[in-house]
Amino acid sequence: MDVVMHIGTEYEKMFLEEVIKHIIVNFASNLDLSGIVSIELLPHKTIPNESSGRMENKKLLLSYHLLSDIAYKCENYNSNTEIDFKKVSGDYKVIEEVNVLFTTIYHELFHFDDRKKRPKLYASVEINWDENIYLSLAALYWIEFSTHYNGKLRETEQHMQKYCNNFVNRNWNFSNEEYFYMLKQMPYFIYRCFHFSIIQFNELITKIDNIIEQKMVIECREVSEKLITLEKFDDYVELRQLEIIFRKAYKKTI
Ligand SMILES: [Zn+2]
Repeated sequence: MDVVMHIGTEYEKMFLEEVIKHIIVNFASNLDLSGIVSIELLPHKTIPNESSGRMENKKLLLSYHLLSDIAYKCENYNSNTEIDFKKVSGDYKVIEEVNVLFTTIYHELFHFDDRKKRPKLYASVEINWDENIYLSLAALYWIEFSTHYNGKLRETEQHMQKYCNNFVNRNWNFSNEEYFYMLKQMPYFIYRCFHFSIIQFNELITKIDNIIEQKMVIECREVSEKLITLEKFDDYVELRQLEIIFRKAYKKTI
């Protein structure tokens, strides 16, 4: 698995190689990563949908902004020794940045393995998108939710809190595009809500002004709770409940 730099320095390349090695050894040893050709670092905003990370044609693409100056901020690093990531120097912001870099890489590696195990779900998102958009959105929801949920790497509490507050405080406009964008954000939001108690969750969602959206969030959480008991299914049937929620909410808004 070669690291290819389309941007950045030789030093950052060494750093990234070290990060990837660390993730694979410590968190991803149970994943089947055979087939990944390379990991490529690209300039910010050049990956489709402005993603930070994405698997494409057996290549893991990463956005350069993820690296920011982390390589230069991490103490204990020189090319001869392993980085002790637990002793990352600096303030909370650096720790946060390192965590985001780690979780993004791990997330994409998890997808690579998961796609082999659940080809039908991935095909619904990647190939059959136009056939039934609500079912595809349900599949996308479940792929993203369970990737976070089943993954070993956790985000920091502050990061989750920040994301959830942004989600509930945003005034989503229910136009077509914005509605679909919100649905794409929904699995990340609900997954993070699972880390809060039900009291905290109820408190959080009172900040959502739109009643339709609030109801949807409650229903999505309930369905997700049921679906995680079914383990790693690869079947659309299980997703009908989510499909119905998404379709129903959309109809109410137009
Ligand atoms: Zn993902």
